[in-house]
Amino acid sequence: MQETVEGQIARIRTVPLKKELNKINSLINQHIDFGSPHLSDFRALQASGQKQKKMNTEKVDVLVIGAGPAGTIAASLVNKAGYKVKIVEKLKFPRFVIGESLLPRCMEALTEAGFLDAVKSKGFQEKSGAKFVRNGKVCDYSFADQFTPGWSWTWQVPRAEFDKTLADTLLQMGVPISYETTVTAIQFNGPHSMTTVADANGNTSQIEAKFIIDSSGYGRVIPRLFNMDKPSSLPPRKALFAHTIDKKRALSDEPDRITIVEHKKAVWVWVIPFSNGNTSLGFVADPEFFDHYKGNMNEQFRGMIADEPYLKERFREVELVFDTKLLQSWSTTTTKFYGDGFVLTGNVTEFLDPVFSSGVTLAAASSQLAAHLVIRKLKGEHIDWEKEYTEKMMEGVEVFRSYIEAWYDGTLGTIFFADNQDPQIKSMICSVLAGYVWDSNNPYVKNHKTALYKLASMIELRDKLQKNQSAANS
Ligand SMILES: Cc1cc2nc3c(=O)[nH]c(=O)nc-3n(C[C@H](O)[C@H](O)[C@H](O)COP(=O)(O)OP(=O)(O)OC[C@H]3O[C@@H](n4cnc5c(N)ncnc54)[C@H](O)[C@@H]3O)c2cc1C
Repeated sequence: MQETVEGQIARIRTVPLKKELNKINSLINQHIDFGSPHLSDFRALQASGQKQKKMNTEKVDVLVIGAGPAGTIAASLVNKAGYKVKIVEKLKFPRFVIGESLLPRCMEALTEAGFLDAVKSKGFQEKSGAKFVRNGKVCDYSFADQFTPGWSWTWQVPRAEFDKTLADTLLQMGVPISYETTVTAIQFNGPHSMTTVADANGNTSQIEAKFIIDSSGYGRVIPRLFNMDKPSSLPPRKALFAHTIDKKRALSDEPDRITIVEHKKAVWVWVIPFSNGNTSLGFVADPEFFDHYKGNMNEQFRGMIADEPYLKERFREVELVFDTKLLQSWSTTTTKFYGDGFVLTGNVTEFLDPVFSSGVTLAAASSQLAAHLVIRKLKGEHIDWEKEYTEKMMEGVEVFRSYIEAWYDGTLGTIFFADNQDPQIKSMICSVLAGYVWDSNNPYVKNHKTALYKLASMIELRDKLQKNQSAANS
């Protein structure tokens, strides 16, 4: 029988501290934080750490946890304001992470953080739209046609390279990043904090900070340490994916957009071409869908490709860059996004669903907003975190949530694949797909809870009347 994560941790607690830390680090990495060790494990580390001799202590204004897009954007903005900031990052970069299709809205944060030129110089695949496919019918959104004034393009990126580009640029700006350094405990004294970190050799040290920005993604450092995790309203879903060497890309009208193929209701595939000739391909569905496929994960993945007419010719014999990976149950949220001396940004707050590529954009936008509030706080201003941060962020998150729900219940399918679409309505929906989810001038943002359902009902009614009419005429 396979040993549980909790069992493994209980067993390795009996070995000396250094080994214990290495093993727990590797467990955390193995589980990419989907169901990884919990609060008690960090506390165990804290307790054993306390028995050690006095630790080195470093002082900063702001400590950022995690060097993903959320962490690097926040750190850059705080640094630009003249404060001493440092990032601690659990892994060594480059490291694999999923989330490769960006949205135009994140370009604003990348620009403000001073990362745009460095990313441009990497020659990543430019992305100018999103294409939806069902039973051979195509609905194409071009960001140039969107309602909200803003960016009309962005990139599709292998995240290992993209995230390293942001982190390297930050290092050049003079912000230190300690890689292979894991936060194991935090003690707050009012807004001031003392964070214990462990390096790859198991050496522990402390960082004293006036403020912490927790951008630890699926690591969820502060929510786990302080019991703040809360289930998401979205049901658990699962993804099976790989990078492919896409020699037959010319068969499709690409590569400057993401293609979302609706395989069956609530089962879909992402196709994200990169500029290096590889394409990221992933199936997303409720966990039961995957039970229909036998064999190891590569065999299951190939079985799914063979069953999807839009993909099978292009990807049938395709070579995989790495073995098929699996992720599941990624949606978790927290009881609050801030506290005395800390704020959560990026995925730690909540990752919804991959279908509209909202993850990196929400990570970037939340860090942009949070960094400005932290700077004002350090200047001595009073911040109403609930109003200025949580409520503001949730405005955008809730728009995406409505669109995700409408995708899985089929409402958006009715809209995307309708005949004779109204170009103005299409441009408003396009702005949401571009990540402009805070534009209250857009009725499809402002009325996100009802507008899609009303539109789909009208389309269905129109189609029914037209069908009756043509039946009467024939
Ligand atoms: C199946 C799937 C597909 C997705 N597709 C897309 C997509 O197409 N587009 C998109 O925009 N998003 C997508 N996402 C979401 C995307 O993965 C995340 O939203 C994005 O990576 C969030 O960035 P972040 O900076 O918040 O976190 P991350 O990029 O995860 O960075 C967090 C960092 O914190 C570090 N860390 C964790 N714990 C600790 C610790 N204890 N101490 C120190 N450091 C720590 C981690 O090592 C990591 O490097 C997808 C997600 C899933 C599950």
